Amino acid sequence: MPKTKKILLLATGGTIACKPTSRGVLAPAISAAELLQFVPELEGMCRIDTMQLYDLDSTNIGPEHWCGMAKAIRDHYGEYDGFVIAHGTDTMAYTAAALSYMVQNPAKPIVLTGSQKSIYNRDTDARNNLLHAFAYAVSEGAWGVQIVFDNLVILGTRARKVRSKSLNAFSSIDYPETAVFRDDRLIRFLPTPQDRPPVRFCDRLDPAVFVLRLVPGMGADIFAALKDHYRAVVIEGFGVGGLPGGEDGPLLRAVRDWLASGRLAVFSTQVQHEGSDLSVYEVGRIARELPGVLEARDMTPEAVVTKLMWVLAQTRDPAAARALFEQPVQHDLL
Ligand code: ASP
Repeated sequence: MPKTKKILLLATGGTIACKPTSRGVLAPAISAAELLQFVPELEGMCRIDTMQLYDLDSTNIGPEHWCGMAKAIRDHYGEYDGFVIAHGTDTMAYTAAALSYMVQNPAKPIVLTGSQKSIYNRDTDARNNLLHAFAYAVSEGAWGVQIVFDNLVILGTRARKVRSKSLNAFSSIDYPETAVFRDDRLIRFLPTPQDRPPVRFCDRLDPAVFVLRLVPGMGADIFAALKDHYRAVVIEGFGVGGLPGGEDGPLLRAVRDWLASGRLAVFSTQVQHEGSDLSVYEVGRIARELPGVLEARDMTPEAVVTKLMWVLAQTRDPAAARALFEQPVQHDLL
């Protein structure tokens, strides 16, 4: 008889656990143990323990909570066959990316899920998502940090929230889904990695990362203000990326100074699909030739930001930091 798997459910809040408040808005109020009562199908699928980590709208979740989740997984890694994290959808892709860097090469699945409608709603997606999250977590060959949502299993480093209201809220950006559920049957697209190095935990992040979204006509003054507070900047340009203002422009000078001070700068794009490529245009070439500059290429914005937070916590040496950033982790860089 196959052994019954043991899964730890970590609850953090989110719409899935929301009830209406006296002010007529939603706030997390349903505990991890209560969530499970809504999904009787889980009975007999596996043994489940619960841990109520937070009670937060995911808008309030950030690096300190990612460290808390990584620590909970690390502390209980030996006791369980997998982990399910119930989480708000708004920042779930950030959490999934952050955990992909903080828990590398996990032999046990770490599955995030949530819902667009509270588990109390008659037409909720919470029951289906929770059921599938556990079904994936106990399946043979389940791996890595994944988001399970609306029948899709998506790598934590490739996931984005692409719809604010519809049930198909998440997409895998420019990469196949790990698997899909079709009529409750799990169909895998990505193979389980073989010969994985041992799991590696990290419990620190440096949040000193700023995202600068270029708008046409933007000046360079902002860099002086950023210097006191940030060690890395992500410059979200247009199209395949680049910097306005030309070779002698104030923006190029500001980024050159920023890099010369030992900080990191990553060029990326505001376009959702297909990433940046600074080698195409003159506006890209001037950025690409800056000494020490990094390029996001096909990484998601969530992966770029959380990878930088992880990198900055590992080393203060800019060259070592750049080398770490360029090292692919769980298919973040293709
Ligand atoms: N505001 C909610 C949250 O992210 C939205 C959701 O969970 O769908 O916590």
